[in-house]
Amino acid sequence: MLRLENVTKTFGTHTVLKEITTNFNDQETTVLVGPSGSGKSTLLRSLNLLERPESGFYDCDGIELDFAKKITKKETLAVRQKTEMVFQDYNLFPHLTVLKNIMEGPVHVLKEDKTSAKKRALELLNKVGLKDKADAYPNQLSGGQAQRVAIARSLAMKPRYILLDEPTSALDPELELEVLKVLLELAKEKQSLVIVTHNLEFARHVADKILFIEDGKIFFAGKKDEFFNSTNARIQEFIHAMT
Ligand code: ATP
Ligand code: MG
Repeated sequence: MLRLENVTKTFGTHTVLKEITTNFNDQETTVLVGPSGSGKSTLLRSLNLLERPESGFYDCDGIELDFAKKITKKETLAVRQKTEMVFQDYNLFPHLTVLKNIMEGPVHVLKEDKTSAKKRALELLNKVGLKDKADAYPNQLSGGQAQRVAIARSLAMKPRYILLDEPTSALDPELELEVLKVLLELAKEKQSLVIVTHNLEFARHVADKILFIEDGKIFFAGKKDEFFNSTNARIQEFIHAMT
């Protein structure tokens, strides 16, 4: 489980996370929603230590951190082995083939031998529907294909949690669909996912739990059905505005 307790993050004079306390459960998909600027990306990035909140506690699957204290390099690496971030703009290595992009982390970070890393990379490419693209370079892929490679690459690192920040926002609707299908499949397989999205229709399909963040605070945290059936006026207004 990932757990944040009283986590506060300030940029300059602007407090964007205000004493956030919440859990992200194993084998569940948690979807973060909320207005633009509400703190979703900052919260997600904090889980991967790409942002450093100035106070509060973080329990990353047993790695216990106090944000008010110095976080060591070792702790940062340990957190990043458990939580793999998938970025909106894919971040693939342009000079490496698709296959090599996926093998890079397992071979150089996890020190897997090349033969088994390659076998697994091909399996993962098959899983995301791109087995025939193994030898292509990133600039030969569509956005949807590139994002699916990025997801395969994150899976290759065997993280416990995959964090995705608007994974389809750069894509046309038909390309978006092929990425959403892959994520739905992972959710069904009980891969632990934390996804930031503006796509409430997708959230309705994929989420176990919804976190609705507004102005740096958690306005709602609970089961998907409770969110979509909520009678709370603010939640209804938000759902209405987004669909
Ligand atoms: P969106 O839906 O538009 O992506 P968001 O909910 O992800 O929004 P964040 O990116 O977490 O919002 O930003 C929350 C607030 O923090 C915003 O007001 C933003 O301007 C501010 N902010 C984020 N990153 C920084 C930064 N590096 N320096 C200063 N302010 C920042
Ligand atoms: Mg954001």
